[in-house]
Amino acid sequence: MLEQSIEAFKACVNDWLSAIAQLGEKPNRGNLHRFAYRAIRDKYPQLHSNVVQDAMNLAIEIYRSWLKNGGEFPKFRSDVIYFKGVDVRIENNGLVVPLMGRRVYLPLYVPKKYKKYLQYKHGRVIIKRVDKDWYALVSVNVPEKEPIKPVGTIGVDLGYYNLLVASDEKGRVVMRVQGDILIRHKEHMERLTARRQERLMKKFGIYARTNHKDRRFVNDLNHKIAKALVLKAKQLNRAIVLEKLKGLKKQRRPKLLRKILHLWSYADLIAKIVYKAKLYGVPVIFVSPRGTSKTCSNCGYYVRTFKDDRVFRCPKCGFVADRDYNASINIAKKGLEELRKRTFLPTLKDEASSPQGW
Ligand SMILES: [Zn+2]
Repeated sequence: MLEQSIEAFKACVNDWLSAIAQLGEKPNRGNLHRFAYRAIRDKYPQLHSNVVQDAMNLAIEIYRSWLKNGGEFPKFRSDVIYFKGVDVRIENNGLVVPLMGRRVYLPLYVPKKYKKYLQYKHGRVIIKRVDKDWYALVSVNVPEKEPIKPVGTIGVDLGYYNLLVASDEKGRVVMRVQGDILIRHKEHMERLTARRQERLMKKFGIYARTNHKDRRFVNDLNHKIAKALVLKAKQLNRAIVLEKLKGLKKQRRPKLLRKILHLWSYADLIAKIVYKAKLYGVPVIFVSPRGTSKTCSNCGYYVRTFKDDRVFRCPKCGFVADRDYNASINIAKKGLEELRKRTFLPTLKDEASSPQGW
């Protein structure tokens, strides 16, 4: 039944795409529905009406991304079927979904670490076939934790040489992730690919690609960085401070990193930090990036020009530090100001004391 249903869903999405091509105007849920719903609905009696609707929404999404990216007119080929949350019940370690006009029970294997999510209200369910295996992607609404009352802040500077440097307002380093973790990964993957390519070339005369693996690695890395940072903040009872960034920061990309850095993005890491912080009840504060990299975190002097890209030298007090580290302290201080405006924290005395942990 699942087999037949995903085939029907695939054909249905493609019919919606053809309808869009015939529509002659920009498709939206209203005009497209009026134009073709009746005909398509009648053609697929085996699909639930909400599934036909979801096929339409998916077709509109596919069409819009095609408008943006160009190429051949899209054809939907994925082995999936979408269900609205209201049409699915989760019970007895399984899903009850509408298939071929009936409600069908599908037993689920739920990995141990995901079991706790079954208690929450679920949303959309996507059932997907990968080779001979079937997967259910179930979205759930996890309630946000009651936020902690922070005693201070952790400033986070994101960059290329250091993907992330996090420290508190006193200069104690909380976390540091160096950019060369990406270089090492890239080199490792290139060695693997070289070997694989040689084998594949000999055997089949084809090339192997690794791009998707790089993407998965970067995604995974950002998850780990975000989680480690948020747990650390929770443990130290501090709010996380990030810079409001408009587009990419102006920083030269190290040559070695260019090959893989295009896959790594600030926006993605920031999104993951914000998401996980909500989950763990850690407040996140955004501050303006103005001056954070050029101000001396020790004495507050504003340094206009730099000879060295990597090292911060203060001509006034002689403070010398890694530039990203210096910036992270400034970000932590700005965040603390912001936090003090919101709550009644004791004021920071002795702001010019020399940073520790450096
Ligand atoms: Zn200084």
